[in-house]
Amino acid sequence: TRQILLASRPEGWPTQENFTLSDATLPELGIDQVLVQNHYMSVDPYMRGRMNDSKSYTAAFQIGEPLEGGAVGVVLASTSHDVPVGATVLHNLGWREHAVVEAANAKLVDPSLAPESAYLGALGMTGLTAYAGLMYAGQFQEGETVFVSGAAGAVGSIVGQIAKLSGASRVIGSAGSPEKVARLMELGFDAAFNYHDGDVSEQLQAAAPDGIDVYFDNVGGDHLEAAITSLKVHGRVAMCGAISQYNATEPTCAPRNLSSAIGKLLTIRGFLVGEFSDKADEFAQKMAGWLSDGSLTFDETFREGLDNAPQAFIDLLKGANTGKMVVRL
Ligand code: NDP
Repeated sequence: TRQILLASRPEGWPTQENFTLSDATLPELGIDQVLVQNHYMSVDPYMRGRMNDSKSYTAAFQIGEPLEGGAVGVVLASTSHDVPVGATVLHNLGWREHAVVEAANAKLVDPSLAPESAYLGALGMTGLTAYAGLMYAGQFQEGETVFVSGAAGAVGSIVGQIAKLSGASRVIGSAGSPEKVARLMELGFDAAFNYHDGDVSEQLQAAAPDGIDVYFDNVGGDHLEAAITSLKVHGRVAMCGAISQYNATEPTCAPRNLSSAIGKLLTIRGFLVGEFSDKADEFAQKMAGWLSDGSLTFDETFREGLDNAPQAFIDLLKGANTGKMVVRL
């Protein structure tokens, strides 16, 4: 079987040279383990942080070791009573065609309910991030105006739709191309703009002349600064990610207007999806409902084959995806 190893740590933007495709021999199954043939693997922005040799909320990838990340596949062999052969499972040993997984770390998913890849996106980690980030970190209330950046991506596209379905009076999204902006309007956003078209702050003020109540931040930098200007008194920021800074080689500037958070009584709340694991059932139920009645849709961008996984990851950071970027193995 084959897997992708970290060859070297990127400085700035990752390149193909940072990855190696290698052959591997699978170990014999131990007690309560399963052999999974991966069908789909996820590439996610947070993996960029794990490629650095720095302490973070997740451990750094090690040079010469296989990368890890979300994957869905079918169980080929099992020594577990709980996870039988033939089951479809979600687990965290992606970046490889086959994986030997502790049964306790293999979550059974139902492929008759949704396509397998959806468990990496709308029904999985990025969907829960969108839901919990908006509702709990962002404390969204019916009737409010929401701005989300990275709006055509896996998390952002779900944030905007959940906000509308939950009674937002106005939802604004920003994204990096005219095609993505058009897609956001199809998804039901009230306004959307391309951040390459001009000053983010000016474009946001034009899209939300009465201000915003919640900013769901996937981008950081100029977007966060723009949102702080547009936030109303008691406004909230759900700080989810700062992708505009992940490949920076120098520390980046804080929003220059941060001190206006004082007078506006803003709440700026960083969050990790992991802290909301107690909301996973509530989320799964609501999302299944929205998907089955067609009120929410999700986009996916597929790349084919393990060989193309590094490029899929690099391209994700550059915005080649609409919706969730997934590699089909
Ligand atoms: P996306 O599907 O949104 O893909 C990343 C997108 O970021 C690209 O498509 C690109 O779209 C956009 N982007 C890249 N560079 C820039 C830039 N300089 N300025 C603005 N946009 C940029 O990824 P996810 O939905 O998986 O993740 C979105 C964010 O959420 C990330 O910041 C990620 O780290 C974070 N996250 C946080 C979690 C948490 O627990 N806190 C969990 C999951 C994700 P475009 O063409 O529009 O530029």
